[in-house]
Amino acid sequence: MSFESLGLRAELLRAVSEKGYNTPSPIQLQAIPLILEGRDIMGGAQTGTGKTAGFTLPLLQRLMASSKPEKGRRPLRALMLTPTRELAAQVHESVQSYGKHLPLRSTVVFGGVSINPQKQKLIKGVDILVATPGRLLDHVSQRSVDLSKIDILVLDEADRMLDMGFIRDIRKVLALIPRQRQTLLFSATFSSDIKKLANDLLRSPALVEVAKENVAVDSVTQVIHPVDKKRKRELLSALIGGNNWQQVLVFTRTKHGANRLAEQLNTDGISSAAIHGNKSQGARTRALADFKASKVRVLVATDIAARGIDIDQLPHVVNYELPNVAEDYVHSIGRTGRAGNEGEAMSLVCVDELKLLKDIERLIKRDIPSVTFEGYEPDPSIKPEPINNGRGGRGGNGQRKHASHNRRGGQPSARGGNNNRSKANTGQRHQRGR
Ligand code: AMP
Repeated sequence: MSFESLGLRAELLRAVSEKGYNTPSPIQLQAIPLILEGRDIMGGAQTGTGKTAGFTLPLLQRLMASSKPEKGRRPLRALMLTPTRELAAQVHESVQSYGKHLPLRSTVVFGGVSINPQKQKLIKGVDILVATPGRLLDHVSQRSVDLSKIDILVLDEADRMLDMGFIRDIRKVLALIPRQRQTLLFSATFSSDIKKLANDLLRSPALVEVAKENVAVDSVTQVIHPVDKKRKRELLSALIGGNNWQQVLVFTRTKHGANRLAEQLNTDGISSAAIHGNKSQGARTRALADFKASKVRVLVATDIAARGIDIDQLPHVVNYELPNVAEDYVHSIGRTGRAGNEGEAMSLVCVDELKLLKDIERLIKRDIPSVTFEGYEPDPSIKPEPINNGRGGRGGNGQRKHASHNRRGGQPSARGGNNNRSKANTGQRHQRGR
């Protein structure tokens, strides 16, 4: 499936191709045609799924289709509400970049900054407004915005808006916009409060969901374990052996790294197989079948090779190395915690990877708790080195330099130096204080 086949107009296709997107993501494939038809949407999707383009592209197209020359100030026709300033700014950037070849005007308003420049822009007239609820109401009370001509309303991250206590503000906004409109509600979770809000807001909505690649499905516990690069294998063996895990999916950055790690684990007495693009399809199918049948305990994979791995009760995923591309982290942790099962996703992080960790935390918009195992504390004298990706490895192909680091992974243990492997599962841990 291509963007062309979704029925998007040429200006949008051009913008999408300039962004470098080749194929629509699952949420885009589902949502775009429905929104173009004018349907209300209840969307279950998180950051990292491409949801923003999923609602912004068809929204722009519908505004173009219903554009009519108006005398005087152009009316505001689309309102996009977000819980946070950061998200508002990000959504507005998307509106600007997907709409760059269209004659539509947009702006963004959020609190914490001066209201006057925002007023100036609103008074000139915009087609699309991205806003946080509180500041939007300030503008309403100062009469810098008129919500009576809204055709399309988007609520992004609706669950977070409710968590942050915006329900009253949202209801005030709703009272000001026409009932006859298209409403798109996106939420990562469908709590009873969200369902109630959706019931009030949406008219026979289409449900679109991409549960499988959820960034932070609540059933997945995420943790990082700071450890020196040279000691990762030892720690991994200790974790698997000490906790008696029977089915573990481990991600490495390179094919060579996957092979080597599987060999080393086998030497440690932990049955393992590697799966990656250089293996024949037969070997890959066999390795996967053996893993699913619990004939091997560990499957070591590069991210690309693991895309098709779908095992409902896979309890443990380990990122032996962090991926170069933050989105790949989301894919990897999405391999566990499926179909309502609990899952644990852990990442072994050395000093070279702190920048990658920061990118991931920025993408998933949360800090991942860090637990340092006693006896595996990172040596603070080790300096970061550029990451060697091998050829055709996982994720991007550029080498990253790590010139500066403003944080070290984990607190050194007060009782360092103990190399006892069994410590890895005894709960003698140090939480990162942040
Ligand atoms: P979102 O879930 O909307 O926050 O998007 C996550 C990231 O995916 C953003 O960096 C987008 O630029 C990117 N993205 C969105 N759609 C696509 C696509 N079809 N192909 C590749 N990247 C995309």
